[in-house]
Amino acid sequence: MFEYAPAPESRSVVDIADSYGLFIDGDFASPKDGSVFKTVNPATEEVLAEVASAGTEDVDRAVAAARRAFTGWSALPGAERAKYLFRIARIIQERSRELAVLESLDNGKPIKESRDVDLPLVAAHFFYYAGWADKLAYAGFGPDPRPIGVAGQVIPWNFPLLMLAWKIAPALATGNTVVLKPAETTPLSALFFADVCRQAELPPGVVNIVTGAGDTGAYLVAHPGVDKVAFTGSTEVGREIARTVAGTGKRLTLELGGKAANIVFDDAPIDQAVEGIVNGIFFNQGHVCCAGSRLLVQESIAEELLTSLKRRMTTLRVGDPLDKNTDIGAINSAAQLARITELSEIGGAEGAERWSPACQLPERGFWFAPTIFTGVTQAHRIAREEIFGPVLSVLTFRTPAEAVEKANNTPYGLSAGVWTEKGSRILAIADKLRAGVVWANTFNKFDPASPFGGYKESGYGREGGRHGLEAYLA
Ligand code: NAD
Ligand code: MG
Repeated sequence: MFEYAPAPESRSVVDIADSYGLFIDGDFASPKDGSVFKTVNPATEEVLAEVASAGTEDVDRAVAAARRAFTGWSALPGAERAKYLFRIARIIQERSRELAVLESLDNGKPIKESRDVDLPLVAAHFFYYAGWADKLAYAGFGPDPRPIGVAGQVIPWNFPLLMLAWKIAPALATGNTVVLKPAETTPLSALFFADVCRQAELPPGVVNIVTGAGDTGAYLVAHPGVDKVAFTGSTEVGREIARTVAGTGKRLTLELGGKAANIVFDDAPIDQAVEGIVNGIFFNQGHVCCAGSRLLVQESIAEELLTSLKRRMTTLRVGDPLDKNTDIGAINSAAQLARITELSEIGGAEGAERWSPACQLPERGFWFAPTIFTGVTQAHRIAREEIFGPVLSVLTFRTPAEAVEKANNTPYGLSAGVWTEKGSRILAIADKLRAGVVWANTFNKFDPASPFGGYKESGYGREGGRHGLEAYLA
């Protein structure tokens, strides 16, 4: 085996201030009651910055600013709004190295992914929706589709800037204004995005960023000045938001968890499938709502496939997110690490067999070795609950019908994968899977033109593509 020399990306390409205020009405402002919280680098536990915690008066001001801005913004011709979105997209491209490093610092994800996946997709999303802004009359929602008003958006920590793009780009393209709350462990890229908005000379109040924890989010979604709520995060909080919004006339989209089946048939190309399995569960430390966290493998090839998978897993490099050779970075928070650890212990206690490659984890920070469980049954908690970490549960099946039954035996329904040589089988199986996205002979592929969203407890509504416009049109 060759040893890799360190290949660190430079930290100095990003300038992080000691503290950040709230972005309201085009300016950064201190929170009314002065309360702040800290965001850390999960790879080192170093404090990166102090961030304002928005209270009720701050959210009131942000919603009021978005309401004032709505009049002018919604009245602009689509072609004019498009110019701002194109400008934002280009500035993001220009600043992509800085933003990628920032995202890896605040989130813990490998620079390889923030640089090659997150940032390109963020820019692509703004470009894509910029293209729709002057074509809304042709999108299939009537000859003169109208915006809804003020959108209150709450996003998670796993893809901070990308989830912001998924929420803000379609909202602005359709003429809505926004108050967005990023997750408390990853607020920095949203605050840098605020600066991008200023650079793009976006009219004040069109985008407002309020940082804070769950109570800030709860107050925002319940706010009477908010007309549309968009949430990505846990099913538990999604349920609570659905209850809050029920009967208010507010529009709601929810993108919640998943427990996706990645189904490998005996005629699949094994090496390619192994890459897809690795990508499916270890991409972004497994902090992915559509992660392929349940591997369903046909019994006749299970042994061969697991041997290849384990061999491949021994080559995964866990460590410094800023090293360009790192495959698996840090777990986003101590709380998430505790949850992954707990569910993995339950997996062992319930009788599944646990395996991880030998790997040296850093002393400081939050880390979890890539892990697979074999001998998992459908009754095991690790087969039913979202772990949201680098942990794969392996089950087997004998017939296609059994594969479909097991794949669908989950309260979730966000995504699935099918690996087989036969095109006819791909179509037949995909048709029977109750999942919003089905990948065939690939996994975790994203494109702004493609709608994304769930069935059942994975939520409702679609983001991305033409479908993603609908949630923001009256
Ligand atoms: P969470 O749902 O608590 O947090 C997501 C966002 O919602 C954050 O911005 C948070 O501040 C906000 N929030 C929390 N409580 C709220 C409330 N009552 N009203 C409005 N907003 C509120 O998720 P978490 O605690 O960070 O993670 C817990 C689990 O959720 C994970 O282990 C994982 O299984 C799942 N998760 C799923 C996704 C996804 O993309 N689907 C993302 C993050 C977490
Ligand atoms: Mg952080």
